[in-house]
Amino acid sequence: MAYDKNNVFARILRGESTCQKVYEDKYTLAFHDIKPQAPVHVLVIPRRASPDMQDFTTRASDAEIAALHRTTARVAQLTGIAEAGYRYLCNIGANGGQEVPHLHVHVFGGRPLGRMLPPT
Ligand code: 5GP
Repeated sequence: MAYDKNNVFARILRGESTCQKVYEDKYTLAFHDIKPQAPVHVLVIPRRASPDMQDFTTRASDAEIAALHRTTARVAQLTGIAEAGYRYLCNIGANGGQEVPHLHVHVFGGRPLGRMLPPT
């Protein structure tokens, strides 16, 4: 997937759109989803201009890849969902249902989340 530098998460990273920030560091930014699907629904994104996880794991440094995972765990701590459990979900491409073409990991929690996928 080619990277669209005008996608909404790129605009948030550039400070051109606002977000409700949960955490940020050198490599990552985490913020609340605009349409939460659980009591806690946070998006974790890399600062790197990467369209999806497939691209990111191929091109990003080990430090950037580690940071994405560490930020996800930190978000779970900061939002109080780590102990009860939560879901870490990444949609990739068309079949994965990805809508925003900047890599993002969804962190859902705050209630039992049920089945992994709806029955077919
Ligand atoms: P995807 O389907 O690409 O995995 O998920 C995209 C997510 O981004 C959706 O959950 C959607 O609600 C969220 N989203 C889309 N636009 C914005 C925005 O401008 N701000 C925030 N905080 N979330 C957004």
